[in-house]
Amino acid sequence: MTIIRQQDLIDSVADALQYISYYHPVDFIQAVKKAYDREESKAAKDAMAQILVNSRMCAMGHRPICQDTGIVTVFVRVGMNVQWQGDMSLTDMINQGVRQAYTHPDNVLRASILSDPDGARKNTGDNTPAVIHYEIVPGDKVSIDVAAKGGGSEAKSKFAMLNPSDSVVDWVLKMVPTMGAGWCPPGILGIGLGGTAEKAMLMAKESLLEHIDISELQARGASNRNEELRLELFDKVNALGIGAQGLGGLTTVLDIKVKDYPSHAANKAVAIIPNCAATRHVHFDLDGSGPAQLDPPNLDDWPEITLEADESVRRVNLNEVTQEDIATWKPGDTLLLSGKMLTGRDAAHKKMTDILATGEKLPVDLTDRFIYYVGPVDPVREEAVGPAGPTTATRMDKFTRTMLEETGLMGMIGKAERGQIGIDAIRDNQAVYLIAVGGAAYLVSKAITNAEVVAFPELGMEAIYEFEVKDMPVTVAVDTQGESVHRIGPQIWQAKIEEKTLNLV
Ligand code: SF4
Repeated sequence: MTIIRQQDLIDSVADALQYISYYHPVDFIQAVKKAYDREESKAAKDAMAQILVNSRMCAMGHRPICQDTGIVTVFVRVGMNVQWQGDMSLTDMINQGVRQAYTHPDNVLRASILSDPDGARKNTGDNTPAVIHYEIVPGDKVSIDVAAKGGGSEAKSKFAMLNPSDSVVDWVLKMVPTMGAGWCPPGILGIGLGGTAEKAMLMAKESLLEHIDISELQARGASNRNEELRLELFDKVNALGIGAQGLGGLTTVLDIKVKDYPSHAANKAVAIIPNCAATRHVHFDLDGSGPAQLDPPNLDDWPEITLEADESVRRVNLNEVTQEDIATWKPGDTLLLSGKMLTGRDAAHKKMTDILATGEKLPVDLTDRFIYYVGPVDPVREEAVGPAGPTTATRMDKFTRTMLEETGLMGMIGKAERGQIGIDAIRDNQAVYLIAVGGAAYLVSKAITNAEVVAFPELGMEAIYEFEVKDMPVTVAVDTQGESVHRIGPQIWQAKIEEKTLNLV
């Protein structure tokens, strides 16, 4: 019989969450580096360079890889010979570990969890509760996987109950383009197949904990149906040309994972859950000898890449930029922004459009300004702001026309593509939409020299800040004519990949 102390479990969960907030799994870094080396699309290669540089900075500085520090997801396998010392439930112990990790003073993480999701949407303040899955297994240890799942990638999850004769490959290839770039590729697709509706979703999530090993599988060949699916989907999804951050390129997925379970004769459940550029998970066992010891990775495994601005990069002073200037920007252009910008995301946009609907004045003047869709991590020590990468812009699409037409806003900065209503509003108002790299949040925060809350402080990380930035790297995603890099880039790269494949035949 093994006795596990309550505090050991709490400390282990807290340590694991701190660990994964700044250390990518090494297999993920190696897979991104491999994709970076073979990438031929300049925009996608630049995006992966930023992800790799950001990762190394986070590993060295012990600050979060992404401003979205995730919803905690835990898989626990409890041995039947384990006893607990302490009076808390296992769920309470895990949540105490979450609380301890997310409020750690040296590396405070962002509290992103809201209770009453269709009502008051009130922040719980410490990122609790976690989503926990239990299994009782033979043995005398507790085996735990801890993950912190980004909201942007979770939002792109898909599920279908196919007819038994339907093709899983066809369905996945139909779904992936509809996921856009809000899941911050390159990443991994977890696929759950069979069982029931909820079992398929759970398997898709659990498969993301597996080691990235597609190269080994390619070398040895498939030995069962799941492996055949992995190989076929890996090639076919990458052939879509979506590329890193949806900019068009050779690598969209670093691996495809498939888990299956026996199914009812009438059903073929299938689920996709993507893991993003901020893939974060770690495994540990507790055997009664104390809290888990998580060794720091060897930083030699992180490539040293230097980000260099070539002569095509334009430097833009946001304090002086004019309508004539922005009209010359084209999709795919790289800019280095300096000067002042405002921030705002979902809750701030809702509030601002509600105020505008009443005819009242906004608390901030948006005339000729840029707004950055971001919810930063709180700063520690000498930081102006914590990691502050972009959030998914499509969520702001429904507010965009009002914001542009009623406030004089000049441009927006976010991540991933815009929906058609957003693009129409941008074109009709000759505005622009720029993107920063999702999953490079600490790197972006280094370009922010000052941050001040200027409106709606009650919204916490969703408040409106004014940022002062110096050389913040962005890419033009939608120009004043409504042309979108997320439409053009994948089209070009899909055709190029097709041509390459034909030449090989
Ligand atoms: S990398 Fe993208 S999807 Fe992942 S947590 Fe960060 S912003 Fe969200």
